[in-house]
Order: sequence, then structure tokens, then C-alpha cells
Amino acid sequence: MHNRLEEWWMAGKIPPQPHRTMVSPSINTVHTAYDSKIEGNVIITRVDAAINWMRKNSLWPMPMGLACCAIELMATASSRFDISRFGMEVMRFSPRQADVLIVSGTVTYKMALAVKRIWDQMPEPKWCVAMGACASSGGMYRSYAVLQGIDRLIPVDVYISGCPPRPEALIEGLMKLQTKIEGEESTMAQKKSFFAEVG
Ligand code: SF4
Repeated sequence: MHNRLEEWWMAGKIPPQPHRTMVSPSINTVHTAYDSKIEGNVIITRVDAAINWMRKNSLWPMPMGLACCAIELMATASSRFDISRFGMEVMRFSPRQADVLIVSGTVTYKMALAVKRIWDQMPEPKWCVAMGACASSGGMYRSYAVLQGIDRLIPVDVYISGCPPRPEALIEGLMKLQTKIEGEESTMAQKKSFFAEVG
């Protein structure tokens, strides 16, 4: 007994084509000549802008919790506020793996040199955020034991007011830092310092 295919072949008919699924639709065709659509897939920008975009969206904080402000800093990293939205959830307790020092709390003279040492151990490029009244200006502690602002020891990029500032304020400060990084001359600044060094 012949099967259906043999019957078709013996009768001289073309057997029906088996059903096939189209895997590659025609939009995936590789063009070898000029394609006007490619214009929509190319972004033209400056190297500085691309580097700054990567830097500002991958800031790794070094949490320097020195007093009550640190509790708000910890809350900022929690699920309710969630700084991972900004690519900043990777809090590092090693200065060599961090690029944003967040000084949150009262900086006593006893701690000040330890903060400075941690800052010096962080690789360039790096930024500093003074979180709260104490870190920014000594706060209410006009005393012989307290440094009157961390900017007396290290350069500060963003100051955040409040005693303590809420997590939303810290997030706003970090967004301001992102805006600042956006406008930096990353490669140009490196070139300038290199040529200044070699004369
Ligand atoms: S600013 Fe206020 S909350 Fe923050 S460390 Fe100083 S006293 Fe504490």
C-alpha cells in the first residue's frame, strides 16, 4: 500500500510543501549597501559626555557614619527609598572600591584624621557629600572637640542641610552630584593635569 506522498509522486504531481515557520523575518536582512535606517541607530557624542554618563550612573558610596545622621543614610539604602534606582546601592566599606564619600554625622577631631585617611585612600575620580549640619559646619557643636565642617580637611562637592536630613534630602543631594558630574571635563581635565605635570 502506497502512502499519500508516493501516490502524488506516481501521479506526477508536486507533493505539497511541508509547513515551515519563518524564523528570520525580512527586517533582519543584512544590507551591504548604504542603509538610511542606520542613522537612527547611531549616537554621536563627546567622549567626556559618555564617560560622565557612565560615572554618574555607577557611583559607589563609602558610608562614613559618625553619628545620628548615619541612621538616615542607612534608611536611604533600604527598600523604601532604594538608591539602587540611581546605581548607587553598592555601599563599599573599602575606600579603594568607592568613589563617593558620604560624611554623615559629627566629625570630632579624634575622627577627623581617620576620615582624611580614608579619603586619601579612595582612587580618583572621587567626590564628597557632607550630609547634615554637623558634617557641613559642625552643627550645634561649637566646641573644642568638633571640627567645624569636613570641608576644612577635604573638598566637598555637595552639602545637605538638616539635622538630620531625611533620606529624600540625601537622594536630592546625590542627584545634584550627578548633575555636577555631568558637566565635568573628565578627559580634558586629565590631559591638562598630565601636561601640567610633564611641563
Ligand atoms: S546634624 Fe543633627 S542628626 Fe546629624 S549628626 Fe549632627 S546632631 Fe546628629
